[in-house]
Amino acid sequence: RQAAFRTDLSSLLDLVGTGKESLSFMKRRMRRLASQWGTAAQRLHAKLRQRWREQKKILVHVGFLTEESGDVFSPKVLKGGPLGEMVQWADILTALHVLGHNLKISMSVKELQGFLGVPPGRGSCPLTGPLPFDLIYTDYHGMQQMKQHMGLSLKRHKCHIRVIDTFGTEPAYNHEDYATLHGYRTNWGYWNLNSRQYMTMFPHTPDNSFMGFVSEELNDTEKSSIMQNKVNNMAVVYGKEASMWKQGKEGFLQILHRYMEVHGTVYYETQRPPEVPAYVKNHGLLPQHELQTLLRKAKLFIGFGFPYEGPAPLEAIANGCIYLQPKFHPPHSSLNHEFFRGKPTSREVSSQHPYAEQYIGRPHVMTVDYNNSQEFDSAIREIMSTKVEPYLPYEYTCEGMLERVHAYIQHQDFCTPEAPFPPANSSSSKLGLSSPASPGPQFFLLPNSSALTWAPNANAPLAWPPLSSLRLLASQEGQSCVEACQRANLVCEPALFRFVNNKEALRGLEVQCEVVEAEVNHVFPAFSVLRRECGLQKDPLLYSCAGLSPKYRRLCPCRDYRRGQVALCRDCL
Ligand code: UDP
Repeated sequence: RQAAFRTDLSSLLDLVGTGKESLSFMKRRMRRLASQWGTAAQRLHAKLRQRWREQKKILVHVGFLTEESGDVFSPKVLKGGPLGEMVQWADILTALHVLGHNLKISMSVKELQGFLGVPPGRGSCPLTGPLPFDLIYTDYHGMQQMKQHMGLSLKRHKCHIRVIDTFGTEPAYNHEDYATLHGYRTNWGYWNLNSRQYMTMFPHTPDNSFMGFVSEELNDTEKSSIMQNKVNNMAVVYGKEASMWKQGKEGFLQILHRYMEVHGTVYYETQRPPEVPAYVKNHGLLPQHELQTLLRKAKLFIGFGFPYEGPAPLEAIANGCIYLQPKFHPPHSSLNHEFFRGKPTSREVSSQHPYAEQYIGRPHVMTVDYNNSQEFDSAIREIMSTKVEPYLPYEYTCEGMLERVHAYIQHQDFCTPEAPFPPANSSSSKLGLSSPASPGPQFFLLPNSSALTWAPNANAPLAWPPLSSLRLLASQEGQSCVEACQRANLVCEPALFRFVNNKEALRGLEVQCEVVEAEVNHVFPAFSVLRRECGLQKDPLLYSCAGLSPKYRRLCPCRDYRRGQVALCRDCL
């Protein structure tokens, strides 16, 4: 069946249910953004020009909101607890609904069992028939619950699952045996999924798919009225929980206060939280639309280093604020910071909000060393005298999110096994020479660039992203493919590793190999210049953009991307 865009959210609102503060928060958000979603649907509809879109049967099981997982979030919605996840789930549900899919929502294990048709209780393989859904969106809690209640049948159906995973999961952590053997085992990872089945909040880990969320959009009239009414000496502090204001903030807060009127939205019950200095105008936790109103007046939105990578800085920038945030030196990661410890990633977080730092930057975002009072002081003065327009990257608009989710749903397929490449019946598959009858991949050098590009031959297989987007690069020693591609203004594309995991790619880069071996190692395909050793990847689950080793230069499948929509290549739609 063809999926038809929906611009009316009322049936979705009915589906979400009631009785919890988290659900009310999500519904308020859906209602507030409804007209924006409607306009976006019309625009995307026009852009896709009658393209066939298959209507999918989709189950959304929000594991972290189930009683069975403890649901620690719902009681904190009105008390300064984290809201980013709820923002994202509300937007995912809305996007799937607006795209016209057939949606079921479950927020308890009982509902989950009902929808899946598994009998109550636990069994080793309770789901014998086909899965009644094309796609299941869930989170790590939901995965655990499905494992408990579907037993072995989960394994059979797991290619249909998408895991919403804020901070991301790298391949070395996802691969159970490899993680266990090489010290990457955490409480969360090791599901042996294709890493692109994990979907993140920001495009920080290209091994995963970028899901995202949306922010409020403004028209030109609203933009200019905001710019006219900006109060140049008004700052709002990012941090709705009093603990975020604790320790070591006095120094730079004093400097800030010297120049600006400081506002906060810190939750409190009856008394002003002692962590918040008396000169701060604290509004208490605000409903989302009131926070937006406050941000429209403010010139500066200032981060104290926590929470990491939330939605609020994007909302602030969209409302014409400059976002000032601390640089982390050294970067925070699961190796050196309690918050990230045990998360299935080695990613180094270079500031409170690396997306704002790397994808948006000046004049909207300033990332400085807060311990350097001179640097901090001059940043504040610069902010007060800089005029900026409200700005929202396309990928965080409703249309951008719809476009991306549409592309994933229509093109990502983790159920059909990928044919090995080069084809198994050609002799080149045995790491030997390409057979003349079935020529392997051919690479050529792009004019004015160090990237090799793919020359598709007649038997070029279908892929998504398509091979036309592929650029092959070699990283430096100790450099990951994430970084190598980024340096060349490209992005690492794990789906294309299988096309560069071969001798022809090494030959294309003119690598001298005395031996070529295939191994299970998350930095392969790669080569050592010193030892003239080349390694290919034996296990496709371990194709990793993030992997790096000081001994190896890596073969990196980079691709182009659309401006403002890094998840999609030029020919991806
Ligand atoms: N928020 C709000 N009222 C406030 C402060 C924040 O409704 O007083 C909302 C804000 O609009 C954002 C969400 O809380 O969409 C999440 O914000 P944050 O970036 O702090 O991330 P979190 O740590 O909550 O996930």
